[in-house]
Amino acid sequence: MFIVKEIQTAAYLFASILFILSLSGLSSQESAKRGVLYGIVGMIVAIIATVLGQGVEGHIYIIGAIAIASIIGILLARKVEMTAMPQLVAILHSFVGLAAVLVGFGSYLDPATQALTGAEHTIHLVEVFVGIFIGAITFTGSIIAWGKLDGKVPSKPWSFKGLQMMNLILLLVCVALGVLFCNAHGTGGMLYLLIMTAIASFIGVVLVMAIGGGDMPVVVSMLNSYSGWAASAAGFMLGNDLLIVTGALVGSSGAILSMHMCHAMNRSFFSVIFASGGGGSSQGGEKKAIEGEVTALNHEEVATLLKEAKSVVIVPGYGMAVAKAQYPIFDMVQTLRKANKNVRFAIHPVAGRLPGHMNVLLAEANVPYDIVLEMDEINDDMPDTDVVMVIGANDVVNPSAQDDPASSIYGMPVIEAWKAEKVIIMKRSMSAGYSGEDNPLFYKPNSEMLYGDAKASVEKLLGFLKA
Ligand code: NDP
Repeated sequence: MFIVKEIQTAAYLFASILFILSLSGLSSQESAKRGVLYGIVGMIVAIIATVLGQGVEGHIYIIGAIAIASIIGILLARKVEMTAMPQLVAILHSFVGLAAVLVGFGSYLDPATQALTGAEHTIHLVEVFVGIFIGAITFTGSIIAWGKLDGKVPSKPWSFKGLQMMNLILLLVCVALGVLFCNAHGTGGMLYLLIMTAIASFIGVVLVMAIGGGDMPVVVSMLNSYSGWAASAAGFMLGNDLLIVTGALVGSSGAILSMHMCHAMNRSFFSVIFASGGGGSSQGGEKKAIEGEVTALNHEEVATLLKEAKSVVIVPGYGMAVAKAQYPIFDMVQTLRKANKNVRFAIHPVAGRLPGHMNVLLAEANVPYDIVLEMDEINDDMPDTDVVMVIGANDVVNPSAQDDPASSIYGMPVIEAWKAEKVIIMKRSMSAGYSGEDNPLFYKPNSEMLYGDAKASVEKLLGFLKA
């Protein structure tokens, strides 16, 4: 059964509108669920309209592949922990990259495209070459990003002198290969295509390896953008308008997100992407020696501090996600608010491992939005705050981002927790944050450590607060 071209075009248009509505729905927490729903419906319409399109053959194989992939997708999504979401997103980006590479090779070898002539043929070859180039970078870059987010690849930047020059030379080699490829007859350009694929795959690896843990948020959103452009390129190769539009939506929204991330981290987009020697704004040199002594309190002492405080700010970080501490934290917040204390959350734009990670977790625990404030909205209130509770956060409250030019996170705006009267840092050890930088906040005279798993600690605190 086929649908006529006009119906398919109308379905594509309808799906495109749903994808746009989906993106706009995702712009706020209140409308996010609706946005996801639009996306799901749009994707179902898109798949049905494509599979039933004129000229599509082998439906049984397509339906079989969709069924198997859907089962794997559902099982994976149900099994994946919220803390492993960033890795899942990264690996999914790599699939888009791989798909673009495969579509590229398939399209190049397709006898129908071999029959093209003149400008049409050249344009098609350029589409194939560029599509495979972007796809290969996205594929290997996303795999390294997955490794870094999963702790399988060290988060510290791997780099050497001359890295940027090497990348530039490789890029120029790819351009030269592109010219040779477009001038080759028949499928004679296959060798150039294969060499370029190997080079682009290598560039993907070194680009992401060179980026330090602190700058990874930009990389994740950038790979998201690349995966969109890779899909768009695949759309051009397949002559599928909806894939072009959808890829462009993902590509441009990912690019805008990368810009926002860079702005939030006070980074220039290009300095992050073409990082060498750690990237970011680090000015190199000797790191500042950390002065002071680390002191710790027990749970009862912290509970007493909270009982005496009038204003409390909670700074959650990746450790809250690991410990799944958002539910007892909200219980604690309600208990403190019932005792007439002003309790608010301070959210750093790159806290956790995904854009909006903390907002999602707090929304999951039903924390009201009006007490969840962005870093810029709350930083000025820090000097008037009695107690700041840093729960599983580290890099986002690291003062060396402001005062140590040798730090890899130098220049990134941070939550100025140390300006409060008292800072309680809840984590399991003295280990560094994701950027690998030690945190002088732990050594400040007004800071106290509260060691232990964040969830267990908050539950203990709750016990003392309710007693
Ligand atoms: P960090 O990764 O800097 O620190 C998290 C801290 O949580 C660790 O120091 C760890 O210390 C502690 N922790 C881990 N498990 C637990 C637990 N069960 N209970 C209590 N504490 C725990 O997190 P931040 O949120 O402060 O910063 C995010 C970092 O990740 C930034 O560098 C950011 O650039 C980067 N990043 C962010 C992305 C994003 O999009 N948001 C994407 C990729 C990277 P200990 O082991 O001692 O307990």
